[in-house]
Amino acid sequence: MLLLLGCRSGSRAEAVPSAVPEAAAAPAVTAEPLSQMLALSKALTPQAPADNCGATYEIFVYSFFDSDGDGIGDLQGVEQQLPYIEDLGVSQIWLMPIFPSPTYHKYDTADYLSIDPQYGTMADFDSLLAACHGAGLRVILDLALNHTSTEHPWFQAAREYLLSLPEGEQPDPAACPYVDYYNFQTQAAGGYVSLGNGWYYEARFWSGMPDLNLSSAAVQAEIEAVAAFWLNKGVDGFRLDALTSYYTDSRPDSIAFLAWFTGVVKGIRPNAYLVGEAWTDQAAYADYYQTGIDSLFDFRFAGDEGVICSIVRGNRSAAAYAQELAAEEALYGSRNPGYINAPFYTNHDMARSAGYYAYDDGSKTKLALGLHLLMPGNAFLYYGEEIGMRGSGKDENKRAPMYWSDTDPTGLCQGPPAMDSVKMKFPPLDKQRQDPYSIYTYVKTALHIRGSFPAILRGATVPLDDLCSDTLCAFTRSYGAEEVFICINTAPEPAQIPLPEGADRLSAVLLVNEQPALLTDGVLTLPGYGVAVVE
Ligand code: CA
Repeated sequence: MLLLLGCRSGSRAEAVPSAVPEAAAAPAVTAEPLSQMLALSKALTPQAPADNCGATYEIFVYSFFDSDGDGIGDLQGVEQQLPYIEDLGVSQIWLMPIFPSPTYHKYDTADYLSIDPQYGTMADFDSLLAACHGAGLRVILDLALNHTSTEHPWFQAAREYLLSLPEGEQPDPAACPYVDYYNFQTQAAGGYVSLGNGWYYEARFWSGMPDLNLSSAAVQAEIEAVAAFWLNKGVDGFRLDALTSYYTDSRPDSIAFLAWFTGVVKGIRPNAYLVGEAWTDQAAYADYYQTGIDSLFDFRFAGDEGVICSIVRGNRSAAAYAQELAAEEALYGSRNPGYINAPFYTNHDMARSAGYYAYDDGSKTKLALGLHLLMPGNAFLYYGEEIGMRGSGKDENKRAPMYWSDTDPTGLCQGPPAMDSVKMKFPPLDKQRQDPYSIYTYVKTALHIRGSFPAILRGATVPLDDLCSDTLCAFTRSYGAEEVFICINTAPEPAQIPLPEGADRLSAVLLVNEQPALLTDGVLTLPGYGVAVVE
């Protein structure tokens, strides 16, 4: 008997395990197409994790699903697509900024305590949150604390006051407390923008994003109130934008602020989850783990210059995957023993991964996503990567509308205003759902494997150096009584791998096409670009 896990019918809870005799595990996978990529001897039934390990789906609401036909995605649209998200096999969603903002991306906040009307109402948010929790999905919100919008009332009040001051007169915080909320000065300097009347304000990213004065007690009190407002609503945590910019020239000060905010959040809800964006080199972002923050995005493995892409392109050996993982696990653990790695492969600031591999028939795109989703911790998947969407160049193109269908316009979004026409390479979701070897089916399978093995989520990576080579990576992970051996073939040709003693059950495979995996007399035959989980 083979496990059946239908794309369309199977929610996680409905994935029904079949009792599979040991003997049935050895032969090549046959019959049911989906089963060729799914479990051979183990039920793939992702458990809702008790901790914050798992997988998170990053959603740009603007481009995800439009519920009311105005061309802009919205919160009701996300709620309508929850069955899809749940079925994909993630445990959490990250909503990119949903607060009122003058920009389409909304990283410049005009009010931290309400919902942008383009996306809906607070009632829509409450409904979405309740629906997510009902489906066992956690929800984290994007919080940009480094800066606000120039349209935030704090900035507007400070601006009005400063422009009204007689030239040369010093501002009086008693007359306008908001002059302390930002960094104003009377000298031109790099990173500062002219306000008029001889005043300049700090705006490191863009003139529309004035940097907050995070040292101000009043600003800290405002931030504390924002965190409490959303956590008390039941939000499960935050994704923190631009950590390295908190104090642009001082990592210690940025770390101190993050430590303060982490303490605030954990003081309100100890199990709230925080993941931070410190877009810098690994040694530098590892330091931010000293704050006690749960997770930091693992930039080293991400994007078209990261470890994953380098290996799949053949520029680095397959062995580097396990070696790099083991090294970073030691590094992050030395800063915060309770850390949860936050691997991601792409995000809204990076070119879509389907463009990384020239002349790829989808195999390399799949394998790379497999490498990403086999990393421990809380893996972040950017919407649309599960179908190999395209989009590169300017930011708008990286945030193109979710490609649900090329025949059914329901829910399709128009995308960011200045987006170029983004030409897709792979079929839309509705077609990929019919294909047992689509990128979508591969990613869904990878997510279900990920959620089914606590050792994959939580175990430390131990490279099996004797089995590793330029195109072969083998390692173990253990958690509790569970030990898994993972073998990855990064070459297009099949590989024969003599497995260590005790690894005799082929438990799950991730395959890019019909070529099967086989375990006979202790030797694993792994097809090109194949991944096997052995117990
Ligand atoms: Ca809409």
